[in-house]
Amino acid sequence: MNNLQRRLQTYKKLGLKLTPQRLAILEFLETTREHPSAEDIYNALKERYPSISFATVYNTLEVLIEKGLVKELGLDSSKKRFDPHLHHHHHFICKKCGKIVDVERSFDVVIPEELREFEVTEFQVVFTGICSACKGK
Ligand code: ZN
Ligand code: MN
Repeated sequence: MNNLQRRLQTYKKLGLKLTPQRLAILEFLETTREHPSAEDIYNALKERYPSISFATVYNTLEVLIEKGLVKELGLDSSKKRFDPHLHHHHHFICKKCGKIVDVERSFDVVIPEELREFEVTEFQVVFTGICSACKGK
């Protein structure tokens, strides 16, 4: 199955009406290594798809999140950012430009005493700081 066929199948499963704009949103999410906001996605696609609306981007993202195909990140306080890569991983966020980078390794963490009565199923490590591009400015 090629990428396009896979995307078509994904949309069929979501029960969304298939449009070139929606396919472009899926394609963008599949290929990005960034952690875009809805605005980022809209801005990236509006030139190639002049008929795309911000509402389409936003609503499509909502459905993708609801169906568990995209994660919503709470790392950037200025706007919602989205992560299409669902495997468990960690992040770095630049405090200046908001760039979010994946950290693909595992960490050993000691579960704190006060959480012993809970069943901890996952944890996230978030590094914050200044990215190399901002550091050079
Ligand atoms: Zn930066
Ligand atoms: Mn990520």
